[in-house]
Amino acid sequence: MANLTKKKLKDLEKSLRARLAELVAEVDEVAKNLETDAKERFADPTDQAVQELDRSRHLRFKERERKLIRKIETALRRMQEGGYGECVTCGAGIEVARLEARPMTDLCIDCATEAENEKRQMERYERPSAGAFSD
Ligand SMILES: [Zn+2]
Repeated sequence: MANLTKKKLKDLEKSLRARLAELVAEVDEVAKNLETDAKERFADPTDQAVQELDRSRHLRFKERERKLIRKIETALRRMQEGGYGECVTCGAGIEVARLEARPMTDLCIDCATEAENEKRQMERYERPSAGAFSD
C-alpha cells in the first residue's frame, strides 16, 4: 500500500465517487440525446449526414467515458479489497500527489510514462504522418 493515511484515502474515495456520479450522468445525457437524434432523423432527412457525424462522435465519447467509469470502479474496488495506490505493473507505491491528481490511476509515474511512450510509438507505427517517407 502506498503511503496513504486513512483520511487521505477517504478524500480520494470521495473524489472518485463524485467523478463517477458525474460521468454516469453525462453518459445518461448522451444516451438521451442519441434517442432524440434518432427521432429527429425521421423528421428531417436532409440533415442525415450531420447527424451521422454527431452520432459517431457521441458513440466515441461514450466509449471513452465507459472506459473511465470502469477504471474508477476498479479503483474503488481496490480501495475496499486492498491494493489501491500500488502500481499494477511493478508493485511500487504510487506517489500521493499523483493519486490526488488522478485518483483512478493504477500505474506509478514511471510505468505510466513508459506505457504512454509505447502507445505513442504504436500510433506512429499505425498512422505514419504524411511527411514520414519524404526522405
Ligand atoms: Zn510501476
